[in-house]
Order: sequence, then structure tokens, then C-alpha cells
Amino acid sequence: MNMMSLADRKDAAIARGVGMVTQIFAARAENAEIWDKEGRRYIDFAAGIAVLNTGHRHPRVIAAVKDQLDRFTHTCHQVVPYETYVHLAERLNRIVPGNFEKKTIFVTTGAEAVENAVKIARAATGRSAVIAFSGGFHGRTFMGMALTGKVAPYKLGFGAMPGDVFHVPFPVELHGVTPEQSLAALNKLFAADVDPQRVAAIILEPVQGEGGFYPAPTGFVRALRALCDRHGILLIADEVQTGFARTGKMFAMDHHDVAADLTTMAKSLAGGFPLAAVTGRADIMDAPGPGGLGGTYGGNPIGIAAAHAVLDVILEEGLCERANRLGALLKQRLASLRNRVPEIADIRGPGFMNAVEFNSDSGQPRADFANRVRRIALEKGLILLTCGVHGNVIRFLSPITIQDTIFNEALDILEAALVEASRVN
Ligand code: PMP
Repeated sequence: MNMMSLADRKDAAIARGVGMVTQIFAARAENAEIWDKEGRRYIDFAAGIAVLNTGHRHPRVIAAVKDQLDRFTHTCHQVVPYETYVHLAERLNRIVPGNFEKKTIFVTTGAEAVENAVKIARAATGRSAVIAFSGGFHGRTFMGMALTGKVAPYKLGFGAMPGDVFHVPFPVELHGVTPEQSLAALNKLFAADVDPQRVAAIILEPVQGEGGFYPAPTGFVRALRALCDRHGILLIADEVQTGFARTGKMFAMDHHDVAADLTTMAKSLAGGFPLAAVTGRADIMDAPGPGGLGGTYGGNPIGIAAAHAVLDVILEEGLCERANRLGALLKQRLASLRNRVPEIADIRGPGFMNAVEFNSDSGQPRADFANRVRRIALEKGLILLTCGVHGNVIRFLSPITIQDTIFNEALDILEAALVEASRVN
């Protein structure tokens, strides 16, 4: 028998580059709860990093997957296609924002969706430059990494990034960057660094995810759309983290009445199974020639079956409305703690894509405090994630299907953790 602890075995066997937020080894999970190998129960406000808007093992998702398992598990859609893939594309073409004809491709991860969106934008425009935002996160592949607007840990030691990628500041008024300043930075970029006629796309997270849960203001998103139209630049909405009811609408871009030309999706699309997609204007999506897009596992039938169930559940269980209701309760509870927890600098986020940011009296980011809250909450049985360029934000990604009693229990743990962390201060 191996006498090493599982944590030590993990350290010995797995490259350290794969970070780990907790030392909990999962044994089983159900909706918003996880049990570890020792039988200890946790409430899961990480949801596999925004993957489980419909909860762990939603019965509808599990039933759909089991049914698919009994039919076939893989043929590669490029070799022997299947109707469920086509039907899911039809469904996404209908619901992704944009009142125009659309087409879809399926891939496997968020990073791959981003890579493909850039490839498609380049093929469609015949241009190569791409603009992204500081603080943004778009994946760990080479183009995803280049587009990501945070150096440590994502780009450290990985050498030269793919060229023709530019960054401008994302508007976060809390940190002194107004939408006007972001737009001015874009115009300066066009004057100083890259001819807008060479820019294939601007990629935007409608609410920055890893970067700190900062929503892009509607006026800014509309101004970006206008600027893209003026210069023939395509707008890519990266909805990998914001999609599928998280923000209280099916997609975050629905809040702005602005349609991107291309939309990337992954995470909660398939409720725990690896599936990602790019949906966009039909003519743009058709720019790459046959064979230019795809991949062995892209649109694997298991993920596709799960995604059909996820879309049904979101509609039938009214998860957009529920996201708004739960998010309002969470923000209310956090607001009620402002006096007792002076480290709270901001509480924000549309729907149930909420976060709390911690600063010192003088406005310095308090990553230490965010981590302390996370640690104490974990000891009390609540799994939380931090985020933000400075690591001083706690983000909440609970399943939207979480039962009311468990949600209330989680709020009580959160309150206790915040108050206790502040008392140590
Ligand atoms: N885009 C965004 C907005 C994301 O949040 C993420 C993952 N956190 C990605 C892309 C990359 O997705 P994946 O980890 O599935 O490659």
C-alpha cells in the first residue's frame, strides 16, 4: 500500500504548474455539494470554475449522458457526423445574441474556442492583428495566453508570444480607468502602434472573469461595437465564463443589446462535460476552407448530449430569473456586513456573477485578506475562489440550481468567515 498522503503523491506525480486551490480530493458531488474522500461535506461556490451553473450531476444532464453512452461515445463528427451536433448548432444559432444568420463549430475547451475565433476572424478579414484588454483571461494555449492581459503566472517563462496582439486598459472606474480613457487608449493604439485597417478583431469579456468580475459598462460595449463597424474590425465576445444564465441572462451581451460577430462559449455549456463552441455570423464563420477548423474530439457526442440537457434545464427551471434572485440576496448579505468588515471595498456583478473586493483604508489591494477569507470559509465547509489581477477579489460561482436551504447555509458561513477574518486584522 502507498503510505504517502494523497497530497504528497499529487506533489510527487503532477507537475507543479497545475496549481491547486484546495487539498480536498473529491469522492462524490450533487448539485451544490461535494463530499471528500474522508466523507467531509463542502458547499461548492467554485463549481469547477463556472462550469456547473446547472449543478453537479443534474439529473437531466446525467440521464442525457447515460442515454448517449448506450448509443455511441465517439465517431469524430468530421468522419461520421451525428444529428445531435447539428441540432445543438441550430439551438446556439438561435439563442446567441445577434439578429442575423449564424453558424457554429464545436471544440473542446474555452482556450480552443478563443483560438478558433481568432483564426476565423483572420480568415474572414484577411487581417492579422488582435486587440484584447488588460486583466482579461482567454486561456493557456499560445494565442489564448498572448491575449490574456496578466503576466504572472500565465506568461511567465513561456517565451515569445504570438505577434500582432495588443492590449488596452479595461475600464474599471474603481481603479481609476473610465470608459473614455479605455477608448482613448484604443485610439492612441491606432495612432501609435497598429493601423486599424490591419486589425482583425477586438476580443472582450463582457464581464471580466479571472481578471476580477468587472462588468463592461453598456456605453463602452456600444462604443466598441461602433468603433469596430467604423474600421471593419470584428468584435469577439468571450462568453466562456459569463454564458448560460450566470449573469441573469442567457449571455452577458444580452444586457447591452449589442451583438458580437463571434461568440466563444465553454464551461457551463455542457454542465461538467468538455465542450466549447464558436457561434457567429454565417458568412464570417464560413471564411476558413473545409478542413481548416475542427479537431478529433470537437463536439464529442457526450458533451453535445449534456449541452442539450443544460439548455433545457436553464429554460425549464427559469435559471436566469433564479440567478437574479440569488445574486440580489448574496449582494444584500455582503452589503449588510460593510460596517463589520471595513476591508470590503466593492460588491458587484450582474445576476449571480458576483464578487467582493477587499482594499486597505488607503485603497491598497488586500490579497492577503481575500485569501484569509477563502481559507476560513473552507475550514467551515464552503469552497470559494479568488480572482483579480491583484488577487484581492472573491468571486462567487455557486450553481444557480443550489437549494435555498444550502444557499442560506453558505451565506451564513460566508458571513462568519468575513467577520472572523476581519477580527484577526
Ligand atoms: N475565456 C475565459 C473568459 C475564461 O474564463 C476561460 C477559463 N477560465 C477561458 C477562456 C479558457 O477556458 P479553458 O480553461 O476551458 O481553456
